[in-house]
Amino acid sequence: MKLPDTVHIIEVGPRDGFQNINTWIPTETKIAVISSLLKAGIKEIELTSFVNPQDIPQMKDAAEIVVQILRECHEYKNVEFSALVPNLKGAELAWEAGIRKITYVISASWRHNRENVKRTIKESFNDLEAIRKKYPKLKIKLAIATAFGCPFLGDVPLAQVIKMIDAGLESRVDEISLADTIGIANPEQITEVLSVLKKRYQDFDFILHLHDAQGMGLDNTLVALQQGFNNIETAVGGLGGCPFAPGAVGNIATEDLVNMLEQMGIKTGLDLSQLLEASAFVKKVI
Ligand code: ZN
Repeated sequence: MKLPDTVHIIEVGPRDGFQNINTWIPTETKIAVISSLLKAGIKEIELTSFVNPQDIPQMKDAAEIVVQILRECHEYKNVEFSALVPNLKGAELAWEAGIRKITYVISASWRHNRENVKRTIKESFNDLEAIRKKYPKLKIKLAIATAFGCPFLGDVPLAQVIKMIDAGLESRVDEISLADTIGIANPEQITEVLSVLKKRYQDFDFILHLHDAQGMGLDNTLVALQQGFNNIETAVGGLGGCPFAPGAVGNIATEDLVNMLEQMGIKTGLDLSQLLEASAFVKKVI
């Protein structure tokens, strides 16, 4: 089995996880969870999302979280702090709060894009262009949602995903993440899609964002690693979901992936016992 020596894990629990919880989580609790993850050695973390608070009230403290974390956590100089934004307005708010890396989400499925960010794919790309132009120094990760299937339309053709990747590269995004938003991919599909992308984009370093709805999250990750894709987004405690995608459940749990990789001798740079503490804390408070 050909596997990498190291895997880069990106924690998305405070964004993908919290956004899906209807009961209000106090800002201080969110910050305590983030701090606990930083202690475990997380190198990159999505802190929150700058969305319309009427759509997702849980995220209304986005600016507060960013300001406080950036102020209190300067010992974590090498950590990349990011936030999700769905449009130009979100990018402006994120930048003002101090965010220098965004995850900009567009769905490969036009229908999910309409449900999720209330616009057409073209409108989303127009805003992406505007963000790139307004903030040349902002690091942009394009997250292609529903890249492996859509809760409304079913299959999403690979040609459509390729079209999205090409458009993203044309808009000069720095990174691209491929999301199985509702966790319907299987290992065979992941292998097929990624082998095509590997051939077409050679050394471009994609990120994978997989959900675990069918219990195939780790299996899908393993075959992705075999294809040479070793940037993986996960959420502590297996939190996660999409408020605008019926059936979307948790991401792969960060601690589960780290546990598997460490046992296989693959380095993540994370402290598993501290991660388990973070996960236990999440289960206690949320
Ligand atoms: Zn997700």
